[in-house]
Amino acid sequence: MSPLKSSNQEEEYFARQEALKLRRLMVKAREEMADEEKKRLKELHWMSCPKCGMKLSTIQINKVEVDKCFSCGGMFLDDGELEKISGRERNFFDSMRSVFEDEK
Ligand SMILES: [Zn+2]
Repeated sequence: MSPLKSSNQEEEYFARQEALKLRRLMVKAREEMADEEKKRLKELHWMSCPKCGMKLSTIQINKVEVDKCFSCGGMFLDDGELEKISGRERNFFDSMRSVFEDEK
């Protein structure tokens, strides 16, 4: 095994630990939050860009729904959509490039 690969694996390990920790904290925070508050947050933020706050638009690329902010250029994938892309990344990213290429 090359040192580079081993260092990548170490980084992946720590990223996975961090993700697990954050997931557990978020599940706990959601459990402790009242249903009314969850509903209020959802209504307030639904389809808004998490970076600039403008409305997101849904564009279908290669059977994957991508929520895109045409204000700041950010993109959002729902749960499970990354798995749909996985295995055909090349097609997906080529399609994505051609869909959004004339933006800049
Ligand atoms: Zn934005």
